[in-house]
Amino acid sequence: MADRLRRPLLRELRGGCLDDVVLGGVERLGEGLARPFAALEDLLRDYGTLSPDARRSRLERALALLDEVGGERRPAAEARASAGPAPAPRPATPELSVKDLDALLSERLVDVGARAPAKLAEVGVRSYRDLLWALPRRYEDRRVLPRFAALEPEQAATVTATVLSRKGMRSRRGMHVLRALLEDGAGARASGVWFNQPWVEGQLFPGQRLVLAGRVKRRGRTLEIHVSGFEVDDDSESLSFGRIVGIYRGTQRLSQAYQRRAAHRLLAALGPLPDHLPRSLSEREGLVPLDRALRDAHFPPSEEALQAAIRRLKFDDFLFLELAVLSSRDPSLTGRAFAVAPDDVAAFRASLPFSLTQAQERALAEILEDMARPRQMARLLQGDVGSGKTAVAAAAVYVAVRNGAQAALMAPTEVLARQHFLNLRSYLFPLGVRSELLTGAMSAGERRSARARLASGEAQLAVGTHALIQDGVRFADLGLAIVDEEHRFGVEQRRRLLQGLTPDVLVMSATPIPRSLALTYYGDLDLSVIDSLPPGRKPVRTRLVNVSKRREIYHDAWEQIRRGRQVYVVTPLVEDSEALDEIVSATQMVEDLRRILPDACRIDMLHGRLPAAEKDAVMERFRAHAFDLLVSTTVIEVGVDIPNASMMVVENAERFGLSQLHQLRGRVGRGDAASSCVLIAGERSRKTQRRLEIVARNADGFKIAEYDLELRGPGELRGTRQSGLPDLTLGDLAADGEIIERARVLAQRMLLEDPHLEAPWATRLRDELRRRSGAMVFREVV
Ligand code: ADP
Ligand code: MG
Repeated sequence: MADRLRRPLLRELRGGCLDDVVLGGVERLGEGLARPFAALEDLLRDYGTLSPDARRSRLERALALLDEVGGERRPAAEARASAGPAPAPRPATPELSVKDLDALLSERLVDVGARAPAKLAEVGVRSYRDLLWALPRRYEDRRVLPRFAALEPEQAATVTATVLSRKGMRSRRGMHVLRALLEDGAGARASGVWFNQPWVEGQLFPGQRLVLAGRVKRRGRTLEIHVSGFEVDDDSESLSFGRIVGIYRGTQRLSQAYQRRAAHRLLAALGPLPDHLPRSLSEREGLVPLDRALRDAHFPPSEEALQAAIRRLKFDDFLFLELAVLSSRDPSLTGRAFAVAPDDVAAFRASLPFSLTQAQERALAEILEDMARPRQMARLLQGDVGSGKTAVAAAAVYVAVRNGAQAALMAPTEVLARQHFLNLRSYLFPLGVRSELLTGAMSAGERRSARARLASGEAQLAVGTHALIQDGVRFADLGLAIVDEEHRFGVEQRRRLLQGLTPDVLVMSATPIPRSLALTYYGDLDLSVIDSLPPGRKPVRTRLVNVSKRREIYHDAWEQIRRGRQVYVVTPLVEDSEALDEIVSATQMVEDLRRILPDACRIDMLHGRLPAAEKDAVMERFRAHAFDLLVSTTVIEVGVDIPNASMMVVENAERFGLSQLHQLRGRVGRGDAASSCVLIAGERSRKTQRRLEIVARNADGFKIAEYDLELRGPGELRGTRQSGLPDLTLGDLAADGEIIERARVLAQRMLLEDPHLEAPWATRLRDELRRRSGAMVFREVV
């Protein structure tokens, strides 16, 4: 009986208290019930007239009542989902003590899932401590998920539904379309649609419950959800909806539900975690205890608790960063002292087709000074797109090679790695440097022979993607490691590039981070800035227009193309979207442009879901002028260099960050033609106008970054995953300014009173610092 009542109440609660699960109203459920359920009648009286909040609280009380009187026991976890989210678990008698945190999952001290060691290893989680710290990357509020009936077309929504059937097919254009017939808790139907993800078909079964996120579309009388992400709700603990849900760094084979369950089981078994900050101190800083913060970060009981948890964890991040930076000014970390022969540098200069700018010369001098010292170089070379960082890096490579050492340059994508390779080779081949490209797109055989040439020392420079740090790459004598576009790489990856050696390290970044923030963000890296562009570069004329001018703009574009030039069109991802919408928005843009532009205009497209090799192929064909107009989502990388492209059109420019727009604009104006960038604002608000004008009026990336910091309210980017372009780091830093400042002050005070953190109270703090510092700065790493 209890269950017969519970089910509709649960559905009602999850469906947002719309009073739509029972014919005649939820109130009916309570009518005429005998003991022990009689009290339900009072609870549900006049339900239909109550506010949603009041309904919710009545339902929760009703469910609690059913729990008490219900004859059948049911799993506690389901009760939690029904009565609102449970606080993060905390065991009465811990199975796992804090001392055991470093044990490997494979030791099976706690059962976090049968195949956990193998599965979680995919995201780098090996020990219980790793699992505890593998925190969600973002959160979704799934406390109340809407019914199908409440969905509006074009809305981005998250719903739960049961799969009734599914069917995949190929469309006439060759796109794979998978449709699943879905039913919500109220019995309403909709179709879930997946584009070009044929493998999903094998993951769906009738009867399965899903949590789906996507964009709502209406097609005739059917409601469609174009799915951008989904989870199979196979978790008996109901951790995936009815609460604020953390989204972990999943992989295709490691489901969100699985990770959530593993974290939940760990927390349920783990005793209280001691804090490395004394109580008095954390209270003064308004920080919640570490134990609370970690539990709430995995399973937030409320928004406030989540904010408090994030604040505490970030504070710690910055505190340890500051402590490490401030206490690691240790001049003894030795690398390699290169002999910098003036003749070598002169030979390099002489072989260049241009002369280095003053800014380049200054950066180069700083780098060479570092290289000449025995102390290991750890330097950040920052410069706007096109400022000529690569040429400076090439000079450093040449000096390393002349010393008999090898150099490696790691870039975040295939396209960039290849381009760097071509550029560096053009600078260095005439000087007799033997370079090697190593990327994942190469065949196994090619990679093997490239690796052999690096191991033997025959190749002096390796340029590549992550393939450079994959197993089996060994250098005969790595003396200089260069990392391009640093923000894309995790610390773990940089560390692997260094292979436990102490090469000099140069990080190149086009992210214009204001100096005030650079130290904190990059920790102990010294900074060189190239603050002017090479001469003769014509500034990119930037125009801001609104959509009504769109046709004229493409008319201009066609003019450029008729004169033999090429054009980029950049289209943003739809908000909250992931892969799917990216394909759709690029595809739709191409179709639209085919209608607007003459047939003679050759159009192709690039989006993030293309396999790396295909992206490369598209870029190479664009470079070779095999087509005229490239429609792209933001994947045209910072750094891609196609001189013949003279115009860029950015559609819906308001959807981009200012720094991101500036970096995109840097793709044009790389040749000798006058170049232009047109920002099309899809919306006319004054705020949008003001923001975009900043980009249109300024050519200086640093200045734009500062404005961006000012304009953007703190927290605006919180929790949203951006496309991975530099804006995010900047937004983070902007939002975190206050925390950074407080953490810095505290770190300074701690070290002032106790330079080596030897006081008894600081034991745990010091341990934690040691544990983390390996993961923070180069000089600490090696
Ligand atoms: P970045 O890596 O900073 O984006 P690059 O090193 O790729 O910039 O340089 C951009 C373009 O400018 C390249 O085509 C390069 O050959 C050219 N270049 C670099 N330095 C100079 C210079 N001093 N004078 C003229 N052209 C230069
Ligand atoms: Mg570059």
